[in-house]
Amino acid sequence: MIYLDYAATTPVDPAVAEQMAACLTLDGTFGNPASTTHEFGWQAAKLVETARQQIADLINADPREIIFTSGATEADNLAIKGIANFYKDRGDHIITMRTEHHAVLDTCAFLEKQGFTITYLNPQPDGRLNLAELTAAITDKTILISIMHVNNETGVTQDLAAIGQIAKQHNVFFHTDAAQSIGKLVIDTQTLSVDLISISAHKIYAPKGIGALYVRRKPKVRLQPLIHGGGHEQGSRSGTLPTHQIVGLGSALAIAQQNLIAEQTKLKKLRDYLMRELSTIPQTAFNGNQDHCVPNILSVRFAGIDAEALMASCPELAFSAGSACTSASIVPSHVLQAMGISNEAANSTVRLSMGRFTTMAELEMAVKTIRKQVARLRDLLP
Ligand SMILES: *Cc1c(COP(=O)(O)O)cnc(C)c1O
Repeated sequence: MIYLDYAATTPVDPAVAEQMAACLTLDGTFGNPASTTHEFGWQAAKLVETARQQIADLINADPREIIFTSGATEADNLAIKGIANFYKDRGDHIITMRTEHHAVLDTCAFLEKQGFTITYLNPQPDGRLNLAELTAAITDKTILISIMHVNNETGVTQDLAAIGQIAKQHNVFFHTDAAQSIGKLVIDTQTLSVDLISISAHKIYAPKGIGALYVRRKPKVRLQPLIHGGGHEQGSRSGTLPTHQIVGLGSALAIAQQNLIAEQTKLKKLRDYLMRELSTIPQTAFNGNQDHCVPNILSVRFAGIDAEALMASCPELAFSAGSACTSASIVPSHVLQAMGISNEAANSTVRLSMGRFTTMAELEMAVKTIRKQVARLRDLLP
């Protein structure tokens, strides 16, 4: 089996798993980080703070700006609902894009039912935001702009620096879902005018079920919490901190930071190979801007081919049609639709995503299989 679905999730790095395992059993750091009266608690709290520092270091932030959550979904919910509810006296308007992850879109739809007004901007055909349209959409009631950094289906990147400038000029908060970019692209909170950043662990070789939200302190961004309880995380997110998960996230991001350039260089080579080879299959096209994208995600369509049929014909390859989160339904991807791609073209699209453990030999095998199966399926067409 060849795994080409790193954008859906990644395996935990063995070095990360080892550090996590040391936080579970009696001989390890199993204490409650909130226990302030004994060594077990102090040791766990120390590991949590080390991880918080590792995350802060990666994005050039202050550790006090990091709030642990259960993942990027919760971070998106906390950022968007948190701002909406805290600042609703200032305004009731939020701007986002139609190509966002459902964690953002469904949260906005929920707020819409509560009386907020949401503007959903369409991307340009290449998946990128038109900055003039963003500026034009801002009103004196706008409190938040939520635009993702890297799209999970196409790999297309948005210009965080430019969006942040526009948000700042208009005194509007700016949230970005960085689930697909954290540890892969440089994010510097000192130079970007971004107020809130959603982070997921399981796309970057750490476990599922943990993530974080960066919340700017200068100038201070306030949030209404979603989860009430023991007052953990400065009251922003109650619940006993899962030391092993947090250690996993912190150590994975430290590894990612150390290897960021080398890994991106390697992935770029793999992507160039994949694009070059797949281009030689007749009637093949790539979705999204190929100059502004991450090297690990490739959205490709083969005219006339049903993506589900192609996946079924390649049982030794693991990849996805559209995004994994919506693959249970047969509706064409909302991302590709918003880019103006026809339903037929969207249904012939597959997403190949690579990662740390992908080899050139695997890609050679994958290309061979896809080439053969696309030709076979086309032969079956009427
Ligand atoms: C995976 C993903 C999420 C959800 O993250 P979880 O940690 O699984 O909740 C949100 N946004 C994007 C862009 C993603 O790729």
